[in-house]
Amino acid sequence: MPHSPEQDPHSFKRRGVLFVLSSPSGAGKSTIARKLLANDPWLTMSVSYTTRPIRPGEQDGVDYHFVDTEMFKSMVSANEFLEWAHVFDHRYGTPKQSVFSMLASGHDVLFDIDWQGAQQLFQLAGGDVVRVFILPPSMEELHKRLVARNTDSEEVINRRMARAAGEVSHWDGYDYVLVNDDVEKCYEEVRTILAAERIRRSRQTGLIGFIRGLLK
Ligand code: 5GP
Repeated sequence: MPHSPEQDPHSFKRRGVLFVLSSPSGAGKSTIARKLLANDPWLTMSVSYTTRPIRPGEQDGVDYHFVDTEMFKSMVSANEFLEWAHVFDHRYGTPKQSVFSMLASGHDVLFDIDWQGAQQLFQLAGGDVVRVFILPPSMEELHKRLVARNTDSEEVINRRMARAAGEVSHWDGYDYVLVNDDVEKCYEEVRTILAAERIRRSRQTGLIGFIRGLLK
């Protein structure tokens, strides 16, 4: 007999997952994030604000909200960020309001933020955050990917490489750590983590009524 909507365990309300994906730039995080979003209607992306210049191929409002330093500072003063940090020479921040409305509409939220952001979010949410770190297969491979991306000057690439080592040293601040030596495999692993976290008991706030019904 088919379940009525009230009985369908998949329709129960649950707390949205705050899903953080971090990695040194070039480790494949953006590709994986794009695939997750394209294949999962319940996952939405938190679009950060940044003061860094827009790169070729990026879209304002899609990849980031690109703002000047003055605007960013006024948003910090107005307490409009859940978290923000200096990364390279620029500021990056997660807007509070859009995250709240994504959660309120029943979505899980994907954050492409660095270890500082992951740490701040973790504290803010009382630990109720899923933190995934993606490692490159090697530093040589990371360098090759940054060069192939063709978006940064040699100087910027060298600085990104120097920073990558710093990023990797924070791997122990994450719940899951994966090596991206095969992007398909890595994507499947990340998808599996999200699927498991969605059915974690503590997140299934609506399940209690269903269980009471089962035990009647
Ligand atoms: P990119 O300039 O290559 O897009 O990003 C540089 C780094 O900034 C990446 O590691 C990215 O995860 C991080 N980042 C992007 N947005 C945010 C944000 O809102 N908060 C924090 N803490 N880091 C961010």
